[in-house]
Amino acid sequence: MLKVENLHSGYGRIQALHGIDLEVGQGEIVTLIGANGAGKTTLLMTICGNPRATQGRVLLDGTDITRLPTHKIARLGLAHSPEGRRIFPRMSVLENLQMGAVVADPRHFSDDLDRVLTLFPRLQERLNQRGGTLSGGEQQMLAIGRALMSRPALLLLDEPSLGLAPLVVRHIFDLIAKINAEQKVTVFLVEQNAFHALKLAHRGYVMVNGRIALAGSGAELLANPEIRSHYLEGG
Ligand code: ATP
Repeated sequence: MLKVENLHSGYGRIQALHGIDLEVGQGEIVTLIGANGAGKTTLLMTICGNPRATQGRVLLDGTDITRLPTHKIARLGLAHSPEGRRIFPRMSVLENLQMGAVVADPRHFSDDLDRVLTLFPRLQERLNQRGGTLSGGEQQMLAIGRALMSRPALLLLDEPSLGLAPLVVRHIFDLIAKINAEQKVTVFLVEQNAFHALKLAHRGYVMVNGRIALAGSGAELLANPEIRSHYLEGG
């Protein structure tokens, strides 16, 4: 479904990605783990078209999306829930969800809203509350819910566990599994919380300094001594 080939990207003279190759198959949860500054966020952003790739290609269901503007990429079924959640803090929960639906067919709006609110009953109870007043976990739910409002086939999640208490993290990961299994959404998950991410994912990639250093099934990577010592201390 998603194929990244020899992708290079960066910010002006700073090159952050040095030739990334990876694939996410339909129906999979694939995770990308790596230390701070490895380039994980840059990869997700480059897949979405900003910053632009300087070399290489991104294919979505065989269509080359490397040079497409971000809104066109969204129309092709790719949604991105960015790092730090980036919800609209002054807008209500409902308005945030409406923003997520701008690229979707308006005839599906009420069905999509029902689907998201069934998944996140906490948002249902808080539809008129301002986004900025939600708890961290609720804001994360809102960010994922907003991404789901465009009916994506592929959901890119950037560090959904960031800054959340362990119990909340477990809940968010359960919800990601549910979105994948019940709603048939393919998931590409960027995480620093390697333990949870590898337990959840079918497959994983490890990024080091803008390159893929290792790939394997979630179980293989969890059992790998190098991964254990670098990313799973205490896990
Ligand atoms: P983290 O988990 O800390 O977010 P990451 O793996 O997502 O890390 P990136 O945020 O993609 O890493 O950063 C990769 C490299 O690109 C880093 O060296 C970072 O300093 C640099 N970088 C990121 N954003 C910018 C920017 N807007 N301008 C210049 N350099 C940037």
